[in-house]
Amino acid sequence: MERQPHVLVVSFPAQGHISPLMKLSIQIAAHGVKVTFFTTEVELGKFRESLPENFEEQSSITLVSIPDGVDEDVRYDPLKTLEAIEMIRRVIPNYVAGLIAEINQSGADEKISCVIADISVGGALEVAKKMGLEAVAIWPAAAPCLALAAHVPILLQDEIINSDGIIMKDEPIMLSKDVPACAWSSSDIGWRSSHPILSKALLGFYSIVPQYAEFYDLILCNSVYELDSPLFKLIPKALPIGPLLFTNRSATFAGKSWPKDSPCSAWLNEQPAGSVIYVALGSSTIASAKQVEELALGLEISGQPFLWIVRPDFMDGSTAKFPDGFRDRVSERSRIVEWAPQEMVLSHPSVSCFVSHCGWNSTMEGLTMGVPFLCWPYIADQFSNKKYICDVLKTGLELNKDENGITSRYEISSKINTLISSDVIRETALHAKDIVRKSSSEGGSSLKNFKSFIDDIKSL
Ligand code: UDP
Repeated sequence: MERQPHVLVVSFPAQGHISPLMKLSIQIAAHGVKVTFFTTEVELGKFRESLPENFEEQSSITLVSIPDGVDEDVRYDPLKTLEAIEMIRRVIPNYVAGLIAEINQSGADEKISCVIADISVGGALEVAKKMGLEAVAIWPAAAPCLALAAHVPILLQDEIINSDGIIMKDEPIMLSKDVPACAWSSSDIGWRSSHPILSKALLGFYSIVPQYAEFYDLILCNSVYELDSPLFKLIPKALPIGPLLFTNRSATFAGKSWPKDSPCSAWLNEQPAGSVIYVALGSSTIASAKQVEELALGLEISGQPFLWIVRPDFMDGSTAKFPDGFRDRVSERSRIVEWAPQEMVLSHPSVSCFVSHCGWNSTMEGLTMGVPFLCWPYIADQFSNKKYICDVLKTGLELNKDENGITSRYEISSKINTLISSDVIRETALHAKDIVRKSSSEGGSSLKNFKSFIDDIKSL
């Protein structure tokens, strides 16, 4: 019997990393390759809730997780974010080494021959390489950010940034004049945050790319060559295979992952075509009580039906409180839920626009479904993704803050109405959708790259 190839996929434990790496794993497994997916327990547990019960049997992906090794006094202290990340980065490669040894010495037919590791845990690539396995990196964020990451040593050496990531010259960083997406100012640099410790931790996610470069020859990215072709000259090791979705290249699984009785699908079916505002602000955005109030009232004033994802810890870490009477007033034309299958929502014909924090996964999903964006970035690369959407691709508008740092109900409602009545933005979004879809269809560059990657795995 022919030996089944076996890859180990290693994810950094955060939803925005696990999500694209799981999608990649599903697609790899759908091509006859055995996959063991590894991350830490708590984050995998959260993600499991969105997977069907018998996911492992259906997908032929084995899920493995361990405690993240973060001390309790560090876990809940934002000032110790750097320490927490370091603890995770220590624990994962050690465990990966043991896991590979255990599987490959067990006499099983399906020995691991390749490790695909999130570059955020680059130590796993070093382990794989030193054990004589194929080591492939994956970058789950945008390709312009990967280009920025690859250039961090040069930016430091030329004193364009300092070791805290602060831009030292009074001009934007411009990696290439041919690539508008590769320009950053201090207001949209990828490690932007309101706290220096967090900025330093975020900078670490960029500097790790060159730090481990000797251990990988290939870095997969969730991007589309045709959207950014000149940019890929800046990152020769990058292989764009985007969009990574639940619903492409793995059709047999996709049907099962979207329950027909999803709480939102029946409601979406009842709404007029092109009417629903979809609001989802990612897994980490936190809003103040005042901001939640303004968003609620902005949605109300817009007069449109809306589907709003409100995580239990969305409002300053506690349950969101809505303005008095709000829920009753909008009950006929809204759904407020803790989670919804986003790809399904965005692909529904009733959806007119996406109020998004511009996380990269959400960005790719919205682009693939041709939905115009109302951009509301919160931290880190979300600001450069916003710029990419609004200024480079021109498929969205930005929400602005007032002098108190609040985005008012009037800003929200008027931008919603401007966006949904703009034929130009809708057509541009449909054009981008066409490019993205062609790329992952037969003959398209992303599908070709993905297939040749699978062939390489099978030939190991
Ligand atoms: N997501 C989802 N349902 C929700 C909220 C989020 O399926 O109700 C998914 C979304 O489709 C995306 C991921 O969670 O794939 C969020 O990743 P992103 O990079 O956009 O944001 P992050 O959470 O990392 O800030």
